Amino acid sequence: MPELPDLEAYRSFFNRRIPGVGIEAVKVSIPLVLRVPKDEFITTLTGNVFGEVGRRGKFLLFSLESGDYVAIHPMLSGRFQYCQPQDKRRAKTCFVLALANGFELRYFDARLMGKVYLVKEGAFDAVPHLAELGPEPLSEELTEKAFRERFRRFHGQTKNVVLNDSLMAGIGNAYADDILFAAGLHPYRKSTELSAEDAGRLYQAMRSVLSEAVAIITERMEKEGLPVDEYRDHLKVHRRGGQPCPTPSCGRPLTEITAAQRITTFCRHCQK
Ligand SMILES: [Zn+2]
Repeated sequence: MPELPDLEAYRSFFNRRIPGVGIEAVKVSIPLVLRVPKDEFITTLTGNVFGEVGRRGKFLLFSLESGDYVAIHPMLSGRFQYCQPQDKRRAKTCFVLALANGFELRYFDARLMGKVYLVKEGAFDAVPHLAELGPEPLSEELTEKAFRERFRRFHGQTKNVVLNDSLMAGIGNAYADDILFAAGLHPYRKSTELSAEDAGRLYQAMRSVLSEAVAIITERMEKEGLPVDEYRDHLKVHRRGGQPCPTPSCGRPLTEITAAQRITTFCRHCQK
């Protein structure tokens, strides 16, 4: 699932390419992902011009000259292709935007769970889930103090709390594992047992893991193009069960547990 660092990298990628570029034609081949009538989607986008691309949580927000936004929540498997018209289309390509610069912007989605909305300026509250999102993890407003105060109000296993989009927006299963590893916190520990110092370490780990990942993925997208699966080689523990713990003084095999259809990887020795 694309998470904050992936979507932030898409945002940079598209902001270097599409603001000011017109949309000449729109072809919808799988309308299932659209949360707006297909005809309205086509009519609004055709002849429109892209503005800046923003992001909120796991939503990418493509602004348009008309004041509308295309808000895309890719869920598990929504991906983008930015390519020449003759390039091979991926399976499950849902729509194709033919751009005035000769490129095509395509959205494909193997499991068709993504959601594509058309939103008027100022009407983001109408998008399910978007209005309830907590602050952006990397924003200036989310200081360590503000984070600690918010964190205290959420109860549950620490990993579930980190994943809660109302605490902060955009962190998914993969980065939650690496953040908890960096903070030295056990994913299943009760969040209410954490001290203020633990919560502070969690905040610092969250900031560094996410900002490093944004930088790595942004660079890779520029060099290697948009991925079919997320760039994840830089993750230290997520889905590395059985491999040695990356802490040099530890090196014990990482534990991997699947519960509630979610894989959690951690080190029993380093994460308390
Ligand atoms: Zn370890």
